[in-house]
Amino acid sequence: MSVKACVIGWPIEHSRSPLIHGHWLARHGIDGSYTREAVQPGELEDFLSAMPDRGFKGCNVTLPHKEAALACAHSADDAARAIGAANTLWFENGKLHASNTDAYGFLANLDAGAPGWDKDKSTALVLGAGGAARAVLHALASRSFRDIILVNRTRSRADALAAHFKGPVRVVDWVERDAHVKGSVLMVNTTTLGMTGQPPLELDLSSADEGSVVTDLVYVPLKTALLERAGAQDLRTVDGLGMLLHQAVPGFEKWFGVRPQVSDELRNLIVADLERQ
Ligand code: NAP
Repeated sequence: MSVKACVIGWPIEHSRSPLIHGHWLARHGIDGSYTREAVQPGELEDFLSAMPDRGFKGCNVTLPHKEAALACAHSADDAARAIGAANTLWFENGKLHASNTDAYGFLANLDAGAPGWDKDKSTALVLGAGGAARAVLHALASRSFRDIILVNRTRSRADALAAHFKGPVRVVDWVERDAHVKGSVLMVNTTTLGMTGQPPLELDLSSADEGSVVTDLVYVPLKTALLERAGAQDLRTVDGLGMLLHQAVPGFEKWFGVRPQVSDELRNLIVADLERQ
């Protein structure tokens, strides 16, 4: 019987998940489908309850439903609970299970793009305190980083996140960010700055230590001004597209029973799609 999965959100037309999962379905010759489903705020619970009868094994969840999806699930893994949001849901024995695979995707992208990046787990600098930052903080804490410096334009939002993650996360003011470039083995942009149509992220990398890694969650454009500057300084750089691709792996495995690979072929497919936009 054909297996069905989907991505739900509002709006949902922009999602590239069908392209990713469609590629893997074809690659593995699986009789299945992965569609976009527009679910308005207020309709989530009804949509989720109806999924098994409609033949859906599970779904990805995007804005604005990530927090509500976690609340609807019968069980959730550590990542979803720590991050406070779910992006991957699946049904098992009639129960709805939730995970958040963004932290996994973030780490797998760095592991692939900058092998050994976490050999020194001393200090990481994280810019931004929105939804994506929650996944990044959880990821870095799970890799036992000892000192995670969090900076955000709105200080109170960073303070709230640091209180949530406790332990290694300490907040410094947005205007102080340049002073923490030196000594950071990893610098992560989780803000929307640098996205097409947004101002660039201002971060002075001139004091960065040799061998440090700069990664940007923004992937439109693929090479942000931040990554351009880091590359020009011979720092190691990892773009954000790999995180999008890797976060999709665990869901595909749950729904379709095969663990797919993030290949160059898949990456090129999505890059071509980004270039068409
Ligand atoms: P979000 O919850 O809306 O958070 C936005 C963040 O950007 C906040 O920290 C916000 O600071 C900051 N910001 C916005 N405008 C700013 C400005 N002018 N100056 C300084 N800071 C500014 O968004 P999100 O869901 O975390 O997503 C953030 C980015 O990550 C997006 O570009 C998204 O596409 C990307 N992302 C990528 C992946 C991936 O797989 N690669 C996954 C998730 C997200 P304030 O708190 O001060 O407003």
